[in-house]
Amino acid sequence: MLFSKFGQKFTNQTGVLQLMDDLGEAAQRPGMIMLGGGNPSHIPTVQEHFRGRMLRLLDSEHDFETLIGNYDAPAGNHTFRHALADLLRQQYGWPIGPENIALTTGSQTAFLLLFNLLAGEMPDGRRRKILLPLAPEYIGYEDVGLADDLFVTYKPDIEFLPNREFKYRVDFEALQVTDEIGAICVSRPTNPTGNVLTSNEMSQLSQLAQQHGIPFIVDNAYGLPFPNIIFTEAEPTWEPHIILCMSLSKLGLPGLRTGIVIANTAVIRALTSLNAVMSLAPSSVGAALALDMVRSGEIITLSREVIRPHYHQRALQTAAWLRQALPDVDFHIHKPEGAIFLWLWFRNLPIPCQTLYERLKARGLLVVPGHHFFPGLTDAWPHRHECIRMNYAQPAEAVQRGVQILAEEVRRAYGV
Ligand code: PLP
Repeated sequence: MLFSKFGQKFTNQTGVLQLMDDLGEAAQRPGMIMLGGGNPSHIPTVQEHFRGRMLRLLDSEHDFETLIGNYDAPAGNHTFRHALADLLRQQYGWPIGPENIALTTGSQTAFLLLFNLLAGEMPDGRRRKILLPLAPEYIGYEDVGLADDLFVTYKPDIEFLPNREFKYRVDFEALQVTDEIGAICVSRPTNPTGNVLTSNEMSQLSQLAQQHGIPFIVDNAYGLPFPNIIFTEAEPTWEPHIILCMSLSKLGLPGLRTGIVIANTAVIRALTSLNAVMSLAPSSVGAALALDMVRSGEIITLSREVIRPHYHQRALQTAAWLRQALPDVDFHIHKPEGAIFLWLWFRNLPIPCQTLYERLKARGLLVVPGHHFFPGLTDAWPHRHECIRMNYAQPAEAVQRGVQILAEEVRRAYGV
């Protein structure tokens, strides 16, 4: 079949597609320990809330029929956007209304739309790019560009911390915002590392964007005020040049594909047009299931009192298992400050992390090799072949067993 350039671009064997295929195929094998993907935990208290809301929708006279029987507006359900704007105004004092919010089919779609709105070929023929100031960065950004070569990416500074931890920091001395940059983007908390950029780093990046008249895109899929999988003090900010992307996925609803973008009205109008062209309207179900919680503010208390402690405990426990299992190799954990992953760095690992990944897969454990998380980085930096990402949100017994297998294979690789 002859596909167009568009078709070829998006159907080529990209690294991400290969990896996802590989993970999908491995997932079919019985007994596989799945610490590779991005699924959140199934937390019973949270699931009870959503089940209860669904039952109330089913019991009501018209709500269920309205939910399944009508298209929402192309910017997403108006009542939900209204309720969310009210909540964020009350919580943080942001001057926003429903006209500052658009829903998308998962936040992954929001990144595809935003990156291509702000970078690629411009009307005057110039090309613009998205600046990722701190790699490692989210794998899902890598292949969304209609244009090739969409990113300018920087390596981090590495700060060593006690207890075999380290933290990546933005290298502001190296960072350059040239005319070819259309937007700056960070995920915070960061997937894959669990890093939470400091308030200082965030305000410097925000100022840089503002000075250059470009948006600062903040991927808040794990952040505040929900799902609040963030273990440090970190207030979110919003200003008209900030595009804050949120999601209902890590709250426990990844199957409902609901992304939320908070931005100035020009950006929201553009996303609304794109939604209309691409899918008429985003799905209504995520907004309907979360509406009551947003109205009552319970989405914030549930995130703070149930979701955050759950993940914090799991992160600490998994890190403790790892330290115990690997007393004798030069290994470091990125300080777990948020998100649902641990990022492990095996210094001077004698084999590439891709080989480690394959050996682990053969032993029934899936993780993700680290070199996938450097979208746009051209530098042949050995560090990218010394790291892996593991999801710690899966059942504790599986994670513990996974840590044992990992430790055995890592020790074998180092020959200890
Ligand atoms: N951004 C980050 C940092 C993520 O980790 C993910 C998913 O894992 C997404 C965005 C996309 O999430 P979704 O499309 O489910 O909203």
